[in-house]
Amino acid sequence: MDRIELEQRVQQLNDLLHEYGHAYYVRDTPLVSDAVYDQYMQELLAIETEHPDLVYPDSPSQRVGGEALAGFGKVVHAFPMLSLSNAFNENDLREFDRRVQEAVGHNVSYICELKIDGLAVSLRYEDGKFVQGSTRGDGAVGEDITANLKTIHTIPLRLKEPLTIEVRGEAYMPKKSFAQLNVARDESGEEPFANPRNAAAGSLRQLDPKIAASRSLAVFVYSIGGDGSVYGQDRHSSSLDNLDALGFETNKERQRCTSIEEVIAYIEKWTASRLDLNYEIDGIVVKVDHFEDQEQLGFTARSPKWAIAYKFPAEEVVTKLLGIELSVGRTGVVTPTAILEPVHVAGSTVGRASLHNEDLIKEKDVRIGDTVIIRKAGDIIPEVVAPIIEQRTGDEVPFDMPKNCPECDSELVRIEGEVALRCVNPQCPAQMKEAIIHFVSRNAMNIEGIGERVVDQLYNAELVHDVSDLYTLTKEPLLELERMGEKSVSNLLTAIEASKTNSLEKMLFGLGIRHVGEKAATILAEEFGTLAALMEADVERLLTIHEIGDKVAESLTTYFGNEDVLEVLRKLEAYGVNLTYKGRTRQEMPTEGPFAGKIVVLTGKLSILTRNEAKEQIEALGGKVSGSVSKKTDIVVAGEDAGSKLAKAEELDITVWDEEQLVEALGEKE
Ligand code: NAD
Repeated sequence: MDRIELEQRVQQLNDLLHEYGHAYYVRDTPLVSDAVYDQYMQELLAIETEHPDLVYPDSPSQRVGGEALAGFGKVVHAFPMLSLSNAFNENDLREFDRRVQEAVGHNVSYICELKIDGLAVSLRYEDGKFVQGSTRGDGAVGEDITANLKTIHTIPLRLKEPLTIEVRGEAYMPKKSFAQLNVARDESGEEPFANPRNAAAGSLRQLDPKIAASRSLAVFVYSIGGDGSVYGQDRHSSSLDNLDALGFETNKERQRCTSIEEVIAYIEKWTASRLDLNYEIDGIVVKVDHFEDQEQLGFTARSPKWAIAYKFPAEEVVTKLLGIELSVGRTGVVTPTAILEPVHVAGSTVGRASLHNEDLIKEKDVRIGDTVIIRKAGDIIPEVVAPIIEQRTGDEVPFDMPKNCPECDSELVRIEGEVALRCVNPQCPAQMKEAIIHFVSRNAMNIEGIGERVVDQLYNAELVHDVSDLYTLTKEPLLELERMGEKSVSNLLTAIEASKTNSLEKMLFGLGIRHVGEKAATILAEEFGTLAALMEADVERLLTIHEIGDKVAESLTTYFGNEDVLEVLRKLEAYGVNLTYKGRTRQEMPTEGPFAGKIVVLTGKLSILTRNEAKEQIEALGGKVSGSVSKKTDIVVAGEDAGSKLAKAEELDITVWDEEQLVEALGEKE
């Protein structure tokens, strides 16, 4: 960026952060997620660090929070209510540790606390009586919300000692109350709150205290205004213990750490288990424990230098949308994928994200060149949440879906009632390749050594056109493919050969018949036993099967009515691929008796029968023996010393038998 661009960017970031900050702090209705706000703030801080002349006096990086709302009395804080500087990774934490050690000249101990996601409040006591409570406001002046705070039960109105002090804490709304509140708001037609933090802030910044009283709020107190040493303590940790003794509620998950390694371990622990808490936390606050050390470190205008807030990895970030690529799936659905400027989100680098379908692109008004918000939560595939309209320059290009398939150029169609556009050409190379990838996948024919790349090669070299061609492959032409050595070719051919003996359901699933997933494939294989028998079944016959519905039945008959399909199936048979079910078919299973269709779990020590004998006999009577107890279990047979499985069965109210009852029931077969 040249100087002018840099100045413009700083101005733009200032404007955006002011706007988002106002919505968040003053109106309690955020416009973007915290992660997006933090990303912009980090960008601004990075530029400001490098170009101190671009730090404007009203830069959001120089200010704390928002401003006091008119309507409330103003409270001038006896000690400023500051913000905290942030850490986003291990490096930032180590850097903080290094700065701290350098400033104090020796090893320090830290105290780690959960960073409660609520709003900061200040509570003032005179002679042990609660006299005034306020919000942080802009850090120097806050709003007087005493009447609202008095409705919170965890705030003592009288302390155990007649002290005059000002304490600071975080007011929050437990997750359960938040969920109930939003259900009630939804029912009464009110806008739901975005998160518990906004719900807590919105409740405390109401002029009518009855509203706050109706919203089960709570407060964790986390410090005494000033450094707390005036009250006879020399460390933050002991001052927290003292706050408990005075009648406040502090958060008990805190931990003293004597090294940054211990701090990191604490953070790892809570990153994994934060969701188990009944309130929300957005990070971990790490504070230098000794007040003497804190004093040496001091403050910046915005935050103490002796503390840092580690923020949990962002699940939402901002990046640029460079282009939109189209891919054709196995069923011909054309899916638009966003090509992004690579960005780090929730632990990995993301360069592509799903845009789902044309309607969604239009609805969100996503344009090529836009700055977009990307979300990745847990294992979910990253997706584009929305463009940031304020960041548009005018050069962005709206996207139109093509009329023709990007792979085979045949016209795309939109099936009624569906949002997706489809290529319906059965010879479309993209679909044929996807079909092969599905056929060889683990839960289908499980042919190891063939991934997307190999399928591409096989298809392009015209070695494989449909799935049956896999069984015609031979060594020589394979050796000519790129990155295919003797060993991999031999492994591949062995895997293909081995797949010929798979039971029918694997192949049925692998064929990729619409609506026929793994479960339906197994049910059909069990019911018919052979592919030939299944192919003879009409819709009526298929619908006699309890678990098979209209969609599957129709899809099957259409599929088997297609001449190209029949040709592939004939070839599979000719190449020696097994087309029968290897388990026991439904016809072969007893339909009556105590075990017919029942799922049985054996647990504890059996003394009359061995486990294997019991299993064999139950299965011979049409039952299934499973290893774990779930809602689907019908009977749990509990032998001697049965443990957790028995407990679970009782919890789920499942029939429990002892071994004698089992033996008796097995005897009923005659
Ligand atoms: P902060 O939330 O990063 O940290 C400071 C605050 O942490 C304190 O004021 C206190 O309220 C709280 N806190 C919780 N537990 C604590 C503990 N144990 N000890 C000490 N403090 C504790 O800083 P901030 O200035 O309050 O707010 C900035 C943050 O607010 C941003 O990082 C962003 O995530 C969020 N924000 C979001 C938007 C948005 O549009 N979504 C806008 C503005 C700010």
